[in-house]
Amino acid sequence: MRADKLLANLGYGSRKDVIKLFRQKALTVDGEAVTNGKTHVYPDKQTLEVFGEEVTYKEYIYLMMNKPDGLLSATEDAVQETVVDILEPEDQLFEPFPIGRLDKDTTGLLLLTNDGKLAHRLTSPKHKVDKEYRVHLARPLSAEGEQRLKEGMTLEDGLETQPAQVSRTDDPRVIFLTIQEGKYHQVKRMIAACGSHVEELERVRMGPLVLDEDLERGAYRELTDQELARLK
Ligand code: URA
Repeated sequence: MRADKLLANLGYGSRKDVIKLFRQKALTVDGEAVTNGKTHVYPDKQTLEVFGEEVTYKEYIYLMMNKPDGLLSATEDAVQETVVDILEPEDQLFEPFPIGRLDKDTTGLLLLTNDGKLAHRLTSPKHKVDKEYRVHLARPLSAEGEQRLKEGMTLEDGLETQPAQVSRTDDPRVIFLTIQEGKYHQVKRMIAACGSHVEELERVRMGPLVLDEDLERGAYRELTDQELARLK
């Protein structure tokens, strides 16, 4: 990564601010001063020091958020608040982005990272990663609707959905639905095609990761090493 980005991510100010640190030869890499912010440095292979103090640096950030209602799953928007806007400034420095999208009114498990490779793997249809949703329905799901969800159905735009898993709960208007795709409004459209309507949608699992029940809506935390290992 670029040396100016590294210093900015370490909290030494914006990329503009850190220019003076390069003039001061504050950063050394394997003992050599770096004077140009564009220089590429390799924190995992080289010894980096700022003003003589060794720095430990992580390149990637992996966050689990319990997304609240009302935020866009985007990094920025001219008008509306996004999930990245509610991150702490020190986490925003890593330039994380949401892995996949949840609708503005969908809540629950949302992962954010700056690791493009992992994001690609978790969202690519080829990898068939489960997405499990708790779906609150306006009307109970009919037996025929359940069958259609389980077998796969053709939506009004011609999209053929893959077979989904359906678990009913004690509440006839609440089901758990697991799909491996993630097309636009997919769950809402599947439920509408079954003659009901989604009143509330919450993602509770993505692949091996279950939404941490201790995370309040709008709260987030870093993934643990074990969670990350399970994802990779
Ligand atoms: N399906 C939807 O309809 N909306 C979401 O946010 C996620 C899946």
